[in-house]
Amino acid sequence: MKHNFGAGPGILPHEVLKQASQAVVDFNGIGLSILEISHRSAEFEGVLDEAVKLVKELLEVPEGYSVLFLQGGASQQFAMIPYNLLPEGGKAAYLETGVWANKALKEAKYFGNVEVVASSKDSNFTYIPKDYTVPADAAYFHITSNNTIYGTQTQEFKPAPVPLVADMSSDIFSRTFNVADFSLIYAGAQKNMGPAGTTLVIVKDEILGKVDRKIPAMFNYQTQIEGGSMYNTPPVFAIYVSMLTLRWLKAKGGVAAMQKENDAKAAQLYKEIDRNPLFKAVAAVEDRSKMNVCFVMENPELEKPFLKLAEDKGIVGIKGHRSVGGFRASIYNALPVTSIHVLIDAMQEFAEKHKA
Ligand code: PLP
Repeated sequence: MKHNFGAGPGILPHEVLKQASQAVVDFNGIGLSILEISHRSAEFEGVLDEAVKLVKELLEVPEGYSVLFLQGGASQQFAMIPYNLLPEGGKAAYLETGVWANKALKEAKYFGNVEVVASSKDSNFTYIPKDYTVPADAAYFHITSNNTIYGTQTQEFKPAPVPLVADMSSDIFSRTFNVADFSLIYAGAQKNMGPAGTTLVIVKDEILGKVDRKIPAMFNYQTQIEGGSMYNTPPVFAIYVSMLTLRWLKAKGGVAAMQKENDAKAAQLYKEIDRNPLFKAVAAVEDRSKMNVCFVMENPELEKPFLKLAEDKGIVGIKGHRSVGGFRASIYNALPVTSIHVLIDAMQEFAEKHKA
């Protein structure tokens, strides 16, 4: 077994993969594969209902919100959000904390005006700006809760004077938060929830229906809500595996228990990075992500040999994103603490070998 530190698609629990592979051959003993059953069958309706129920339960979603499993990835949400929420001639506010935030705000410009309230582009997004004002006349304020590429994470969500919209693609289900503070939350499944192919959207019903433009059915949240995420054929397998992962999370004690584990995993890894003279963390200390840990080497010439040592130990997916360099250890929910220990051991062994 490899130690999978890949950023996305990320690691899934081994028992989920085993159950999913069985369902590909024969789903619940009905003599059909999960890939063959009708999305209108009672079997699949049961899967989708359970997935929605688990999201509501695990995140304590209050009344007045709809939970959707859509397609098109988080990137489609970049466009769907302004399509549905930004009135023509209106303005939306964005916090620019990385490439994904930038892609989101670029899409909004097709629909209206965009005000970037603050940006950390000047430091290659190593921190999350905190000193800004959200204009009270904006249709909504968009943030990215965890910046997958740069390893920064919003530690505390500040209330906004307008509906708050968050891209939680890389940290949903990793920590508790108050859904009621947000008007729309979205996340591509492929980090902490399931395989690529479905995107979770949690939307407050009362923010919809306020723009005059005509919205094509597939891009309209209201159509998707009315269709119960089944306006067209849904991504059955991706939703099924997401449901299994949410069941796994519930059995582990839910999001609060997961958060405890994630805190401990991240603390051990950052401690080693801070202690080990060969390595240096990239993100500002107060904004360090507990999902994507980015670090570089004091001597970049040692990066290749370290990567080789890590690979020899079965560690995969730690090469940093090309825009940051160095290493990125994605330590999503399903990554066991034993994998963190293997990485730490490799770092210590390498430091011992390259002692000055
Ligand atoms: N937002 C964040 C924070 C991401 O990390 C990613 C992908 O890594 C995306 C959006 C894009 O997601 P998708 O590939 O599902 O469109």
